[in-house]
Amino acid sequence: MYKLDTQLIHAGISPDPSTGAIMTPIYQTSTYVQEAPGVHKGYEYARTQNPTRTVLQNALAAIEQGKHGLCFGSGLAATDAIAKLLNPGDEVISTNDLYGGTYRIFTKVFERYGIKFHFTGMADMSTIESLINVNTKMIWIETPTNPLLNIIDIEACAAIAKKHNLLLVVDNTFASPYLQNPLTLGADIVVHSATKYLGGHSDVVHGAIIVNSDELNEKLSFIQNACGAVPGPHDCWLVLRGIKTLHVRMQRHCENGEKVAHFLRNHPKVEKVYWIGFEDHPNHDVAKKQMRGFGGMISFILKGDVLEDAMKVLSGTKLFALAESLGGVESLIGHPASMTHGSIPREERIKNGLADSLIRLSVGIEDVQDLMDDLQQAIG
Ligand SMILES: *Cc1c(COP(=O)(O)O)cnc(C)c1O
Repeated sequence: MYKLDTQLIHAGISPDPSTGAIMTPIYQTSTYVQEAPGVHKGYEYARTQNPTRTVLQNALAAIEQGKHGLCFGSGLAATDAIAKLLNPGDEVISTNDLYGGTYRIFTKVFERYGIKFHFTGMADMSTIESLINVNTKMIWIETPTNPLLNIIDIEACAAIAKKHNLLLVVDNTFASPYLQNPLTLGADIVVHSATKYLGGHSDVVHGAIIVNSDELNEKLSFIQNACGAVPGPHDCWLVLRGIKTLHVRMQRHCENGEKVAHFLRNHPKVEKVYWIGFEDHPNHDVAKKQMRGFGGMISFILKGDVLEDAMKVLSGTKLFALAESLGGVESLIGHPASMTHGSIPREERIKNGLADSLIRLSVGIEDVQDLMDDLQQAIG
C-alpha cells in the first residue's frame, strides 16, 4: 500500500473512463440515462450517487485508513446523519469542550427528538464510565478540542466504548487525516468538517464521514440518500483538489504553529497559550502518542483577561483576518465566546474554561515572521 503522501494525490482516483482526463470531471448532472428500466451503469439519480462524489468518498476512506467514505453538504450535515442513527430514549456522552455548532444541533435539535446528551470533561476517563447506563449508545469526542486544545485519549475511549458496546465517534476536523487516524485507534466513526483543513482554501463548505463497518456504511448511506444533505459535484471537486496538497499544507501549518505558539508564550502581555505541542500541556504525551504533529491551532489569553484588550488585538491584526472557520491557507483570528461558540450559554462556557477574552488563531501557511510581526503590532 502507498504511503499517505502518495495516497493524498492518487487514492480513489483513476483517469476518467470516458475521456482519459487525469483530473476527476465535475459531473454536473441530476440524473443518468438508463438503457432499459433498471439497466444502468450504477448511477440512477444524483442525490443517491454522483461519480465526482464517488471518487471523493473513496479518497476520503483511503486517507483515513477506513473502508467507506460518505460526503455531506457540510460538517454539520454529516453530524446530523450520525445523530440520526439514534432513537428516542438513547443517550450520548460527549466532551464539554465541543464545537459550538455540534453542541447546538445536539441540544436544540436532537434533544427535541428525545435523545439525551451528557457533556463532561474527558481529561480523565472515569467520568465517562460513571455516566454510562442501559440507554447509552454513543460516545462523541473531538480531539484536539475547539478552542481549548484539550486532548482526549482515543484508544482509552475506544476501550470503554467496546466494553459497553457503544459507538465511538471522533470529530477529526482539527487534526485532519495527516496528523491523526482515529479508526486505527479503535473509533467506529470519523466525522470531518471538510470545510477546514481537507478543503484547505476557505472556498467550500463540505462534510465527510468515514467508517470501517459495512453495516454502519449501509445505515449512513441510507440516511445520506433518504435525508438528502448531499454536496454538489463542484464542491466535491474542490475538496478533491484540496486533499492533493494536504500534506504540504499541514507540514507548514505545524511549523508555523510551533513558532507562533512559542512567540506568544514568550510575549510579556500574554498570560496563557493553549497549544498541544508544549511539553507541559496536560495531555502532551497522549497527543504525541496518537498524533503525528501538533497543527496550527492556538488559543491564548492576554494578561489580566480583559475583554477590551482582546477586542483591540482582534481588530488590530492586518494579516490575520477576523473570521470564523479555520484550516485554510490564510491565517485567521477569532473570538470563540462571541463567534464560533456564541451558541453556548455563558455560565456553561466559563465553567468549561472558555474565557470571555480567549483569542483563537488558525495559523496559515504565510511567512511565519510576517505572522509574528502582525501579532506583535496588534498586541503592542
Ligand atoms: C466547522 C466545524 C464543524 C462544522 O462543520 P461545517 O462544515 O461548518 O458544517 C464541526 N466540527 C468542527 C470541529 C468544526 O471546526
